[in-house]
Amino acid sequence: MPQPPRFIAPGGYDPVKAKQRVRHIVRALRRWDPDRRTWLHYKTPFQLLVATIMSAQTTDEMVNKVTPVLFERYPDAQRLAQADPADVEKIIRSTGFYRQKTKSVIGAARKIVDDFGGKVPLTMAELTQVPGAARKTANVVLANVAPRPKSDHGIFVDTHINRVSQRLGLTRYDDPVKVERDLMELLPENAWVDVPHQLIQLGRHFCKARGPNHADCPLLRWCPTGQAELSPAPTSRRAGGAKRRSTAKPAARRRSAGGTSRGGPRST
Ligand code: SF4
Repeated sequence: MPQPPRFIAPGGYDPVKAKQRVRHIVRALRRWDPDRRTWLHYKTPFQLLVATIMSAQTTDEMVNKVTPVLFERYPDAQRLAQADPADVEKIIRSTGFYRQKTKSVIGAARKIVDDFGGKVPLTMAELTQVPGAARKTANVVLANVAPRPKSDHGIFVDTHINRVSQRLGLTRYDDPVKVERDLMELLPENAWVDVPHQLIQLGRHFCKARGPNHADCPLLRWCPTGQAELSPAPTSRRAGGAKRRSTAKPAARRRSAGGTSRGGPRST
């Protein structure tokens, strides 16, 4: 039995209205958090693959703490393929599930050395043969190192993207594979890299599972859930309670931290 969506927007999913809204959503996301890419630190496609495999069940920040040591000792597939598992386990222990992750990253390195000449393959069919690289991982890697048309990646869907897409009325499903399909139908191909990353950022800062901050969200104007929950109708309830407007904005934060990202006016 298909699982009903948990965060479905009021009025359900309407593909025609979703198509009309999505252009505005893409523009607003790009103004709010321009040129967004992965938060994982890497220098080569192989390093991104390893970091992405290790990011399961932990934060990117935690992975970024261990990868400098890991990549200094094992910078490429050839070196990691010959690694002593006990040494790798010791380095990545703090990321959790370190035994399984060690098996996966060494297994991935060996597969890449044995079957792909030491280089990460850039097709979905090949990359998903690599241990630890299911479709979501392959989508993250390919989108960041070989964006379309250089590869045939789709749109990765994690728990944030799943929830935010439902609330925005961009999908009728709760299953990541089906959510990806709906998003691929709606979003232009040139938005398949930055928009998923921006939706994650939005999910972390505004569209949290509990207590979404509709009032400050840069997508409020195009979001059926936010609009309905902030509606002045006497019978409507504000889910999670609207919070006071803040200036939290990644571009602004990066600028204040000395970053170089471009900013833009708030869309709401
Ligand atoms: S307006 Fe609310 S429900 Fe809609 S995307 Fe923003 S935080 Fe999420």
